[in-house]
Amino acid sequence: MDMDKLVSLCKRRGFLFQSSEIYGGLNGFWDYGPLGVELKRNVKESWWRDMVTAHDELATMPGAPEPYEMTGLDCTIIMHPQVWKCSGHYDLFHDFMVDCRESKKRYRHDQVRGRWVEAKGRRVFIATQVGGEEGLAETEQRALKLFNLRGKDVDKLAWQGDLVSLTTVSDFTDVLGPDAKETGSLTPPREFNLMFKTYVGALSGEEGAAFLRPETAQGIFVNFKNVCDSTRVKIPFGIAQMGKSFRNEITPRNFTFRSREFEQMEIEFFCNPKSSPEWYKYWRDRRYRWYLELGLAGDRLRLRDHDQDELSHYSCGTADIEYAFPFLPPGEFGELEGIAHRGDFDLRSHMEGKLVRQGNDLVPELDADGKPRHRGSGKDLSYFDDMTRERYIPHVIEPSAGADRATLAFLCEAYQEDQVPDEKGQPRERVFLRLHPRLAPIKAAVFPLVKRDGMPELAQKIYRDLKQHYNVFYDEKSSIGKRYARQDETGTPFCITVDGDTLTDGTVTIRERDTLKQWRVSADRCVEEIRTLLRGATA
Ligand code: ATP
Repeated sequence: MDMDKLVSLCKRRGFLFQSSEIYGGLNGFWDYGPLGVELKRNVKESWWRDMVTAHDELATMPGAPEPYEMTGLDCTIIMHPQVWKCSGHYDLFHDFMVDCRESKKRYRHDQVRGRWVEAKGRRVFIATQVGGEEGLAETEQRALKLFNLRGKDVDKLAWQGDLVSLTTVSDFTDVLGPDAKETGSLTPPREFNLMFKTYVGALSGEEGAAFLRPETAQGIFVNFKNVCDSTRVKIPFGIAQMGKSFRNEITPRNFTFRSREFEQMEIEFFCNPKSSPEWYKYWRDRRYRWYLELGLAGDRLRLRDHDQDELSHYSCGTADIEYAFPFLPPGEFGELEGIAHRGDFDLRSHMEGKLVRQGNDLVPELDADGKPRHRGSGKDLSYFDDMTRERYIPHVIEPSAGADRATLAFLCEAYQEDQVPDEKGQPRERVFLRLHPRLAPIKAAVFPLVKRDGMPELAQKIYRDLKQHYNVFYDEKSSIGKRYARQDETGTPFCITVDGDTLTDGTVTIRERDTLKQWRVSADRCVEEIRTLLRGATA
């Protein structure tokens, strides 16, 4: 599929526009048009319904260890700044970073160390991420290699001082990056601030500084106790939230795939640590199935388990659901959703403060004075399980999806071209969106064949009856072929036409988008027929 064709259809038919387009647009921001807003709402509503409101709390879902409850939240976009300090986003998103042009790796400026060495008339700073004895040995090895010396020539290296921070070096021309083979590959440090900063209240100084959330998940963690105290939910249960998130992405690109303002659909599922590996597997498979059920079938969709070295420092398992977007090179996939086993990292961070890994343990990160670098809330977020009579900090499984990426994948998958006979039986090129009926912006269109003989009145009655239940569209302009073509491009699964026979036998034609099959039903049975058809499609 040619991505340019989809982009042009999205603009032409009102799915997506560039934000502030009349002023030249704003990079990384997109507006959903009249059809796009319906499509994206259907994606989000399908997610909410399938995950939350229609979830059967009494049954054991296939693959789940036991029944579980689901509930939802809608938190604010701006939260207490300490939330982002304890979650780790503030440090990660706020530090100065240096990039290596050679190895393509990115480092936190203050985490790179190194030492100066002189040999063969050159003075070079050998950088490393390793400290202590190991750091000394590593820099020595790399210095030998750089100066083309053998191990026995180690005394030809004249070291100047111990390991020091890269922050003490002002010019990187003579710096050998931690993973580089040549000097001068590190960029000057840049503030890598992915969180949008704003100011709350009249104060414009640092006291009023706050951030637009870069994910919806933290709102759930900080409300964990509120939900436990105000409802009767018992572990295992999940809290879902969807809403806007903001990231000041360095390189927004690929249509809406990487935007600076986007919507997420996240679940934090709280469970007993003992059963968390089973729950992780359940959610990974359940979420993969969700995309399959809504039409992302085939080899463009895949579930990929992360390798050990890809896992973040707190995660015991992570998988991505990925889609082979047409704008990616062949064989490459883009992330639609990540499912992560996060252990007790998040709840503990909000209790104790920002955590870092120390050996196998997670411990509060300390500052130079030995005090917590970012203090937690001090609130007890543990859970007392009255069935097993134990108290523990629940483990969390997090399926974290993007509504915009899912919408884009559904659009890419739906885009189809074929040839159909026109009214005179001649082959005509057709573009249609094979969207799942649950996602289609318009469920049915109603046409009078011609604008006379009482046909418009009959068609309008059918339209009004259907409109009580579904988003339907009435159209009496231009030829019937053009009207069908417009609905095909919109992804409307069914068209209903009132014609000459309707006037005599009271039946109308129903046409199905994908197969072009046509059949007649009684005009007063249209609502039931469409309901049955849509239901059949969702089964
Ligand atoms: P990526 O590696 O592509 O930046 P990520 O791993 O940082 O994504 P997460 O933090 O796991 O993404 O966010 C969860 C989901 O939110 C992603 O799977 C994606 O669907 C969505 N998402 C994240 N960043 C963006 C963005 N800039 N634009 C659109 N959707 C996004």
